[in-house]
Amino acid sequence: MTRTKEARDTAEKTTAQTAGTRVSPARKRLALAIIARLKEEYPDSDCTLEYDQAWKLLVSVRLAAQCTDARVNVVVGSLYEKFPDVDALAAAPVEEIERIVHPCGLGNSKARDISACMKMLRDEYGGKVPDDFDKLLALPGVGRKSANLIMGDVFGKPAIVTDTHCIRLVNRMGLVDGIREPGKVERELWKIIPPEEGNSFCHRLVDHGRAVCTARTRPFCDKCCLRDLCKKVGV
Ligand code: SF4
Repeated sequence: MTRTKEARDTAEKTTAQTAGTRVSPARKRLALAIIARLKEEYPDSDCTLEYDQAWKLLVSVRLAAQCTDARVNVVVGSLYEKFPDVDALAAAPVEEIERIVHPCGLGNSKARDISACMKMLRDEYGGKVPDDFDKLLALPGVGRKSANLIMGDVFGKPAIVTDTHCIRLVNRMGLVDGIREPGKVERELWKIIPPEEGNSFCHRLVDHGRAVCTARTRPFCDKCCLRDLCKKVGV
């Protein structure tokens, strides 16, 4: 299936899912204007987790919970040196995985999820990562955010990754109204973001959230490329 057809299918699915709910044309226009501006500002935004195979992104995205991508990128080096493929990692003792991934925090639960996930890939998918959202969601330790990231980054399919930056920024910008629950934010964004733009839009939100629309300080609205568009809700 081509990416264009995939985008169209998702758009139709999204339209069906949101049928009966009103979407303000002004909000759609705002979304498109923000997308265009962020494209200019961050033309090269991409995932900051490093990987060369799909299963490695699955591992990294699990490790990235409450940990920086930079630290994950270092830790996985040791992990893959010892367990270089799905079979090796699936057969690894959980305690050994935990010992290696400990610097990422939550070592025990992350190690258990990674072990169970690799076993499932080995036993049910011949060691391959499925390119199906629901199948991804059924893998241990994989939530909607991770499944969307894999769909978008690995398979080039429409995806909206509602991480902490995305949720903070789209609320401030006025693209959603005081919604914090990731699944609800995702549903609202599907209504106003063209499916083929979702994945890169979310990567750009991460870059913008780190550099300008920050969480730990007041956002730097005076030097923001969106200052004339953004609603600055709660700022
Ligand atoms: S104008 Fe301010 S609140 Fe809006 S996106 Fe820019 S930094 Fe964030």
